[in-house]
Amino acid sequence: MPKFDVVIIGSGLGGLLCGNILSKEGMNVCILEKQNQFGGNLQTFKRDGKIFDTGIHYVGGLSEGQNTHQYLKYFGIIDKLNLKRLDINGFDKINFEGKTYSYAQGFDNFIETLANDFPAERNALIEYVKKIREICDRFPLYNIRPNLGLDNELQYFETSIGDFLNSITQNKTLQNVLAGNNMLYAGVQDKTPIGIHALITNSLIESVYQFVGGSQQVADLLIETIKDNGGTLMNNSKVQKLELNNGKIESAILSNGDIIEADNFISTIHPARTLEMTDTKMLRKSYRSRINELDETMSIFVLYVSLKPNSFKYQNSNYYHFNDDSVWNVSNYSSDRWPQNFLFLTSPNTNSDEYAETAIAMSYMHYDDVKQWENSKIGKRGNEYEAFKKQKAEKLIEQIDQQYPNFSTSISKYYTSTPLTIKDYTGSKYGSMYGIMHDSNNPLKTKISPKTKIPNLLLSGQNVNIHGFLGVTIGSVLTCTEMLGMEYLMKKIQNA
Ligand SMILES: Cc1cc2nc3c(=O)[nH]c(=O)nc-3n(C[C@H](O)[C@H](O)[C@H](O)COP(=O)(O)OP(=O)(O)OC[C@H]3O[C@@H](n4cnc5c(N)ncnc54)[C@H](O)[C@@H]3O)c2cc1C
Repeated sequence: MPKFDVVIIGSGLGGLLCGNILSKEGMNVCILEKQNQFGGNLQTFKRDGKIFDTGIHYVGGLSEGQNTHQYLKYFGIIDKLNLKRLDINGFDKINFEGKTYSYAQGFDNFIETLANDFPAERNALIEYVKKIREICDRFPLYNIRPNLGLDNELQYFETSIGDFLNSITQNKTLQNVLAGNNMLYAGVQDKTPIGIHALITNSLIESVYQFVGGSQQVADLLIETIKDNGGTLMNNSKVQKLELNNGKIESAILSNGDIIEADNFISTIHPARTLEMTDTKMLRKSYRSRINELDETMSIFVLYVSLKPNSFKYQNSNYYHFNDDSVWNVSNYSSDRWPQNFLFLTSPNTNSDEYAETAIAMSYMHYDDVKQWENSKIGKRGNEYEAFKKQKAEKLIEQIDQQYPNFSTSISKYYTSTPLTIKDYTGSKYGSMYGIMHDSNNPLKTKISPKTKIPNLLLSGQNVNIHGFLGVTIGSVLTCTEMLGMEYLMKKIQNA
């Protein structure tokens, strides 16, 4: 095995994007992935002859001239993606207290559509959109310009989404509706920074797309670019340890004992897991405990449904339903009151525009609900675990049926995943959806720098910057600027 310029741990979006950027710059990169399948949360799986997405269902900012589009143009994959735009007049529907509200694409359209339901709140809606756009303007990489340290982005991590919405309107229903898709960031009313809400919401209002045929296509296309640039990808290669010599990491030791040497290392997995691999005083005890003690975002139960042919209409929008009278309380369920919320969506397919082949529903679930099975291996968790999953699936189906009365009769087969599945497949702590939870009460504590005290170890992935397709894209670029220079890389992306 040659010595590589860069070893990247993890082949999720973060790992593949770092691999794309650095291999384009002539570096000899090697991506190490513990799973058989590359892609992390981009992975799809096939059951009943149909493809299911696991961790990327829809993405914002993909129309020409918008940020995600420009980034993907630079990565060399935008023209090869099979995309479908969600409903311009209602990409997300929020069903709250028995009424359904629509989020529309386009800033004026967004305001006007919600103003139809809240005529007295038109000015509040105008103010809301103005504020989130102002906030987003202050994030340089979001706007594809170099971060020269002048924008003070951190200030938008100091106010909570709850306080922000209170400052916009006193109308409690509108406050809840504006936070209705907060599952996208596992929002916590008095903790989630307004910056996170603004960056995600702004991107979706600009434009929203799904991947026809699944998000694995993104992973496959990125892998192709990395291989074309001479890069190496190794699956079934779990990194167990990072070996240091003379104050630098010298090699990654795999669980099968193989040693992979490199000049530089980028870890895109959870920082706590990365720290466990390094046995050195260079990473101070206080840094280690800070990272280990951070709270994680919520986890989730997912129902994957294979639908009978021509039985259930494709829904060109995502449906967020709440049983509670607050969109924030839904994670505080007691087991007899689960589920308190769900997101329901159908995936576009190549065979029919009218009917869906698959549907996915998800509802928050605490890791503690499945902790008793954490020590058994995947597929060997026993009858009790299977019965637990079946019971939860049936409860969720019953709830969906109340919103879509022909749903249960359209089901051919269904499959489920729990917080343990997310933990097993991505290595995220407690199966958390998005890794570390940002906290506006202590923003510096939850901000993870790509740099570490080990000079040739960088961090990336969803815990650096923020999670999600665009969040991880920006985080990957940020990490690579540490090796390539901020102005140099941003110019390349601008000029792509
Ligand atoms: C249910 C769900 C739905 C979501 N929906 C959306 C959505 O619709 N839109 C959106 O933008 N975002 C969504 N997200 C968030 C998004 O998927 C993630 O933020 C993003 O994909 C994370 O990418 P990553 O590269 O940081 O991590 P991951 O995708 O988790 O990749 C990490 C990789 O590292 C590998 N790994 C772990 N440990 C080791 C080791 N020791 N050695 C080698 N490899 C290792 C893992 O196997 C994995 O492949 C969703 C997330 C979840 C869980």
